[in-house]
Amino acid sequence: VIVLGLESSCDDTAAAVVRRDPTGQTEILSSIVRTQTSLHADFGGVVPEIAARAHAEILDHCVEEALTQAKTPLSLIDGIAVTSGPGLIGGVVSGVMCAKGLSAALGIPLYGVNHLAGHALTPRLTDDIPYPYLMLLVSGGHCQFLIAHGPDAFERLGGTIDDAPGEAFDKVARLVGLPQPGGPSVESAAQAGRDGTFTLPRPLLDRAGCDMSFSGLKTAVLRTRDRIVAEHGGLPSQLRADLCAEFQAAVVDVLAEKTRRALSVYLQAAPARATLCVAGGVAANTAIRSALENVSAEFDASFVAPPLSLCTDNAAMIAFAAIEQMPHRRADDLTLTARPRWPLDKTSPAMLGSGK
Ligand code: ATP
Ligand code: FE
Repeated sequence: VIVLGLESSCDDTAAAVVRRDPTGQTEILSSIVRTQTSLHADFGGVVPEIAARAHAEILDHCVEEALTQAKTPLSLIDGIAVTSGPGLIGGVVSGVMCAKGLSAALGIPLYGVNHLAGHALTPRLTDDIPYPYLMLLVSGGHCQFLIAHGPDAFERLGGTIDDAPGEAFDKVARLVGLPQPGGPSVESAAQAGRDGTFTLPRPLLDRAGCDMSFSGLKTAVLRTRDRIVAEHGGLPSQLRADLCAEFQAAVVDVLAEKTRRALSVYLQAAPARATLCVAGGVAANTAIRSALENVSAEFDASFVAPPLSLCTDNAAMIAFAAIEQMPHRRADDLTLTARPRWPLDKTSPAMLGSGK
C-alpha cells in the first residue's frame, strides 16, 4: 500500500508519501515539512488564526511536492491519512478539508489519524520493535508514558499534570533572555553551567505513580532569576548558565525517576523484548536522552529514539499510523470531523474512525 499523509495540527504544514510492500517493509518515499516559525516569531507563540490560514494556503503545495518527490502520481495512492486531532482546531480543519477534497474527487479512502498515535507509533517506522513497547512522548505540548499494545491500543500510565517539558524549556529561555525555541538554547547554555550553584525542586518525585509537573519548576526559575537580578543588577552569563544547568538537571531527574516507575509497570506485562522508546521534540536533548538510555540499561530494556526529523511534527508518521491501523479499522467517510481534544488512551477501534 502507498499512503499520502497530511499534518497541520500545530505550526508545521507537512505532507508525506509512505509505502509498505507485501513483505512488510516500510519506506518513506517523501516527507515535506514547512515550518511557520517565522510567521509567529513576533508574537511569542503560535497564533491560531495565522497558523490556520497559512496551512490552508500551502497544504496543496506541500502535497504536490510530496507526490513529485516520491515520483508517485495520485492515481497510485491507496489511502489519504490526515491528522484529525488533537491540535489547534483551525489547522486541523484545514488538513481535514484538504484530505476530504482529494478523497472525494479521486475516490481514495480517507483515514483520520490521532496526531499522538502518529508520534507514538513512529519507532516502528524506523526500527523493528515488537508490541508492547513503552513510549515516553515528550514535546512542546505533551508529556506522557504510554504502553503501545498495538497500533490502536494505547495504555496511558501517567503524564504531566500541567506544562510539558518543551513548554518549560521555552518559558525558561524567555525568563533568562535566551532565544526561541528554548530547548536548544537552554541546553547549550547549560553546558557552561556549574553544578550546585542553585537548587531547584524536583516536583512530584515524592508522589507515587508516573504523573509529572513542570510548572512549579518554571516558577522556581523565575524566583531565582529575580533574586540574582536584585543582587547583581542583571543576569551575569555564568549565573545564567548555572541556572539553565540546574533547570535541565531537575527535568532530567524527574523524567528519569518517572521512567523507572513506568518501566516497572510495563515490565509486569512481561514482554519478550522490553523496549523503551522516546518521541517528541524534547527527545533532542542530549542529557535527557542519555539519562533515559541509562535507565533502560538498569532494566535490561533496549532504548530506541527515532531520528529527530521524525520525532518532531511530520506527515510520514501520520501516513505510517494509517498503514499500521488499516488492518484493524475502517476508512472514514466525509463526515470525518476535526477534534481539538482526542485522548489517546480512549482510542479503540470503534473510536478511531469518524471521531464521533
Ligand atoms: P506537540 O507535538 O506536542 O503538539 P510541539 O509540536 O510544540 O508539540 P515538538 O515539535 O515535538 O513539539 O517539539 C518542540 C519542543 O521541543 C519545543 O518546546 C522545544 O523547545 C523542545 N526542544 C527542542 N530541542 C530541545 C532540546 N535540545 N532540549 C529540550 N527541549 C527541546
Ligand atoms: Fe506533535
